[in-house]
Amino acid sequence: MSRLLAELPGSDVASTLTAESVIVVPTGAIEHHGPHLPLVTDSLISETVATAAVARAASGGMDVWQAPTLTITKSDEHSWAPGTLWLSATTLFSVLTDLGRSIAQTPARKVVFLNGHGGNAALLQVANRELRRLFGLQTFTMPATRVAAGDGQDGRPDEFGMGIHAGYAETSIVMHLRPDLVDESRFARNVPEHLADFEQIGFNGYPVTFGWLSNDFGPSGVVGDPTGASAAEGARMFERSVDGVVGALGEIARFSPGVAS
Ligand SMILES: [Zn+2]
Repeated sequence: MSRLLAELPGSDVASTLTAESVIVVPTGAIEHHGPHLPLVTDSLISETVATAAVARAASGGMDVWQAPTLTITKSDEHSWAPGTLWLSATTLFSVLTDLGRSIAQTPARKVVFLNGHGGNAALLQVANRELRRLFGLQTFTMPATRVAAGDGQDGRPDEFGMGIHAGYAETSIVMHLRPDLVDESRFARNVPEHLADFEQIGFNGYPVTFGWLSNDFGPSGVVGDPTGASAAEGARMFERSVDGVVGALGEIARFSPGVAS
């Protein structure tokens, strides 16, 4: 049976979905990813991970469904680059609220945003609470991938923890999924190494975060180092990501805030 929500006949939704059903919403982006990766990178990754993870979780007996991917999202940090198609934070928040309202009309009560674009992460957390408060949904958000920046070991580039965009990890995964869309002749390192001098200020995980646009770090649109990326490494990263998402879906299936499972 298809696990794509959009392939269900509308008249079967009420009898097919239940309060146990988990709806996975992949969120991607259509945004500049340097000269070597396609605009669709984040949408491709989040949708492909979702499809693999939903299929595996469903074959394990979980009542899980994949919603259509939100492909155009909040890519304001790449808004300077032609080709980036983006929504403002307020527009995306309205879209997420309307989507939650629509899902709340079905029997399903659990919604998971599987996010392939870091620029959405903070807003998705805010939406989690909004959809819980407005519609009583149980809401979750998680990254589509479980990857780390290149650490300089075993042929991996050293990205100083800053391989956040079109770098080693993302490039490897696209080389695995769609090698025809990757131009290896255009790989170029662009790591803002001066930021490594700061102990308090940095990208994700530091006490102090800062507002940035991707062209703050030069004109290429890359924040990371794609050199050394490979399809083989991408395959390993992809499987690790799917494993992680399947494990998370298993916990989500038995999770209820305030209730021991
Ligand atoms: Zn990306």
